[in-house]
Amino acid sequence: MSKEIRLGTAVSQPGTIQYGQWDGIVHPTGHSDWLPVIIAQGKQDGPCIWLTTGIHGPEHAGPAVLYQLITQELVDQLAGTIVAIPALSPAGIRTKSYVPYHVDTNPNRLWPDGRPKKEPDPEKTGLSSVEEAFARLFEPLLATADFLIDYHNAQIGSISFVFRDRVLYRTDVGDTEANKAEAEALSAKMDGMIAAYGHSVVNEYAVDRYIKNDLHRSTSGAALQLARIPSMTLELGTGLMPDPAIVNASAAGTRNVLRWAGMLPGEIEPITGITVVQPGYQARRTLQAKSPGACVVLHVAQPGDVVQKGDVLAELRDVWGRPFGEGVVRAEADGFVVGRSHGIYFYPGQTLFTLAIRDDAPLVAPYPDDYFKTGEG
Ligand SMILES: [Zn+2]
Repeated sequence: MSKEIRLGTAVSQPGTIQYGQWDGIVHPTGHSDWLPVIIAQGKQDGPCIWLTTGIHGPEHAGPAVLYQLITQELVDQLAGTIVAIPALSPAGIRTKSYVPYHVDTNPNRLWPDGRPKKEPDPEKTGLSSVEEAFARLFEPLLATADFLIDYHNAQIGSISFVFRDRVLYRTDVGDTEANKAEAEALSAKMDGMIAAYGHSVVNEYAVDRYIKNDLHRSTSGAALQLARIPSMTLELGTGLMPDPAIVNASAAGTRNVLRWAGMLPGEIEPITGITVVQPGYQARRTLQAKSPGACVVLHVAQPGDVVQKGDVLAELRDVWGRPFGEGVVRAEADGFVVGRSHGIYFYPGQTLFTLAIRDDAPLVAPYPDDYFKTGEG
């Protein structure tokens, strides 16, 4: 028999889909944003997976995947529980905004950071409304989730891919070798999950940049680093006009993850209808293809293309259409094209592509030395 799982007003009932709401952010006008909660539980006991999306208002493919995925037919075969939250940022969704109007930060960088709490600094602003809500929501996640998937979109026309975070371990508490071994086991398990999903894979930044960019405070970053569960961020191409092929392939990939986790019977489904890039090496994200001047950029390389160092990525023109500067931008490293920046008119230093480039940094690594000493109030 499946164990009871509650989140807000949603309470699991074996063999059914239950709907409810979790009290999120209270606004000064007396209104509050509750988060919609779906709990789908099989009659057989099994793991619990959290499926979250809608933290970025213009990214609509993730909710579409969840609405397609979670059906009574699925529940009839399910062992274990799906806890789904299709709208993590209701204010952002209402206004199609990446950053909701009531905070000034990307909400997907506001999950707990694991640092020790210090006395609040009276000269600094306290926790934001979103941080407070996510700190509370992290408690039931920690208590119930065995796996987590968070669904997003990248650029128009970008490929469907998984962001794979590196697994960090502590060197300041316990036995470092044991901590490292735990991280390696977690990393290997997560690789199994990512392989089961079956889409292209882009590694996140190496540790220093990862922490600097607060990526450890993303939904999947916090679930991985603090809850120590296999987690992944999915990027599903175009956001405001979801590509049906990517939505279908993501639903299929998610069912494959459920099969891998022992939550669904049957063979792994083939992933069809989308580009899956397999360059034969690990690759990480980079924004390093930049515009050398104020010019027109005609992208030559397209999402999904594998490129080698020196290949032409784009032609450069002036506004009359004549060659600009060296006339081309070339790849600085081997890799593949994840997506193009929107438009053709660029200022100096603006990023032209999201690329994945060859990645030699370790996939399991220690936290920076001073990480747990620098917590702020
Ligand atoms: Zn996003």
